[in-house]
Amino acid sequence: MYRHIVDILACPGCGNDQALDLDVTEEADDDVITGSLNCPSCKATFPVTNGIPRFAGVDADDFDNFDFQWNKWSAIQIDRLSGHTLSEDRFLADSRWDREWLKGKWILDAGCGAGRFADVAASLGANVVACDLSGAIDACRRTTIDHDGRVTCIQASIYDLPLRAGVFDAVYCFGVIQHTPDPARTITTLPRFLKDGGSLALNFYERDWRARVQLVKYALRAITRRLSTRRNLAVSRALVAGLFPLTSFLSRIRVIRQINHFMPIAGYHPPSLTREQQRTWTLLDTFDWYGPKYEIRQNHREVADLVANTGLTGVESRPGLVWAQKGGHTPEKSEPAAP
Ligand SMILES: [Zn+2]
Repeated sequence: MYRHIVDILACPGCGNDQALDLDVTEEADDDVITGSLNCPSCKATFPVTNGIPRFAGVDADDFDNFDFQWNKWSAIQIDRLSGHTLSEDRFLADSRWDREWLKGKWILDAGCGAGRFADVAASLGANVVACDLSGAIDACRRTTIDHDGRVTCIQASIYDLPLRAGVFDAVYCFGVIQHTPDPARTITTLPRFLKDGGSLALNFYERDWRARVQLVKYALRAITRRLSTRRNLAVSRALVAGLFPLTSFLSRIRVIRQINHFMPIAGYHPPSLTREQQRTWTLLDTFDWYGPKYEIRQNHREVADLVANTGLTGVESRPGLVWAQKGGHTPEKSEPAAP
């Protein structure tokens, strides 16, 4: 972490806005590799190791699958490292933020995993604070360190983000909400980090027909969500070994490709990937189906209502997506005329 990041940090323990004291043990240029952050108010102390300030508690143990998953498959979804644009395409489509607008903006990535979207946002010129509760944050740091300090990685729970309110031009939470224990709390905790005029983008698993047709997936999940990471990997490997050739074949034939929605693997076959990349990504996504402790689908209208209730405006939604803004009104506009 760079020293200047202390300016936007806040103690997650006592919520005090007093700046945390930074003790540096090891530093490379301005990048603090080892040290600690100390709250002058409640005296809590948080370590900085491998360049990452760590605010995570024991809750992180519930997310070991993501630790394993994103350290094992840390590069396949990173456009820059794997020679595709799938993450950028998805990021721009789901955020609806303009390439030009992103330049120089301060953006919070809530639940960054291996840094798939943080890497895109930084490549487009944004400053990104990427947070994740799991050890995936180490994979994110290794990948995004190439951006000369424009990505700051922090290990923390979405429910206790060690950040000051009203700091960010934009906040996104992609591919995360369904895997948190209390999605409504996840959704409503994020708007406070936006500055006035800031923009929120959320994507999530919609509570739609997929939940009803993926019968084998959900029957298996009832068992696999309790299995060890190693056993889950064995299950996913066996399923992908058996079914990948079939989902690959079906994906090429328009009239029957919908059959893939019934399959108990997450077949992923974009033509821009090599067959081996498709197989790797399919295994990753399949493990991502079976490994998470939580998978809680949302209705986009209900998510939009939750966001509107936090005071954000201009709330729009589509299945699996919600966008909104914080205020953005000048005082002259928002204050009622004097009687
Ligand atoms: Zn404190």
